[in-house]
Amino acid sequence: MLAGDIHADGGKSVMAGMLAGKAALITGGANGIGRATALLFAEEGARVAAADLNLEGAEETAAMIREAGGEAIALSVEVSDAGQVEAMADATVEAFGRIDCAFNNAGIAPVNVGNNAKRTHNWSEEGFDRMIEVNLKGVWLCMKSEIGRMLETGGGAIVNTSSIAGLAGLPTSSGYVAAKHGVSGLTRTAGIEYATDNIRVNAVCPGFIATDMTREVMSRRGNELMALVPARRMGEAREIAEMVCWLCSDRSGFVTGATYNVDGGYMAS
Ligand code: NAP
Repeated sequence: MLAGDIHADGGKSVMAGMLAGKAALITGGANGIGRATALLFAEEGARVAAADLNLEGAEETAAMIREAGGEAIALSVEVSDAGQVEAMADATVEAFGRIDCAFNNAGIAPVNVGNNAKRTHNWSEEGFDRMIEVNLKGVWLCMKSEIGRMLETGGGAIVNTSSIAGLAGLPTSSGYVAAKHGVSGLTRTAGIEYATDNIRVNAVCPGFIATDMTREVMSRRGNELMALVPARRMGEAREIAEMVCWLCSDRSGFVTGATYNVDGGYMAS
């Protein structure tokens, strides 16, 4: 059924969800943007696999979906480990038969690799490597596992989480910026490569969003950063989820290889 179809339900006309009947895989599904997206996907009719390093959090997300009447499973994954990513994709296919939508969203911030508030020359090599491993290689590994399965089942839609840091420089975030620019490039390239295979690949570029990830930087530089945002506020995780949902739905059927800012106007100023 196409999203937006109207069907009869006991005499009443109801709108089918935007993702009705689709099977979705979401990394970073335990928290923040990933959890908000998992919940919205389920509201819109998708069956959801919430995968995360934090299995307990992913289980909580899946339980929230089931309590609301949806269908969900929780999976444990370290996205920088090829074997674990393959196992995650296998488990999703085992549960739902296919992967129609994938949101490659798990990620870490400079503070998670001990490199917050450091200019480029002060970043540690170890921290830089870990940043690239999770935020860039992790996305590539997920795409690799998902695309193979999508090719087998006739197509799908992938959304990668890039950032405003995937489009512009961001002082004291060099490893993060490098990884996110890489995600934007991977997205454009795969968008071209699979355009005739019915696989669309896009990226969402969030601005400053109120999640655990931004707590530390907001406590240090909140006022300074909000002065750079035309909307003069942080975004909500749900506001990113709305874009991801549209990009994964059939309503964006001609959209591929694109990056979409959801940033309160940050990139426009
Ligand atoms: P979050 O609340 O910290 O959620 C990130 C989730 O990813 C956490 O549950 C985390 O688990 C998980 N994760 C971290 N490393 C992982 C790994 N190696 N394998 C599997 N899972 C892993 O952060 P968020 O703000 O929702 O961020 C989600 C994505 O949005 C990230 O890619 C981030 O770079 C991007 N983004 C965020 C913002 C923002 O302002 N918040 C802006 C632009 C882009 P643990 O908690 O166990 O580490």
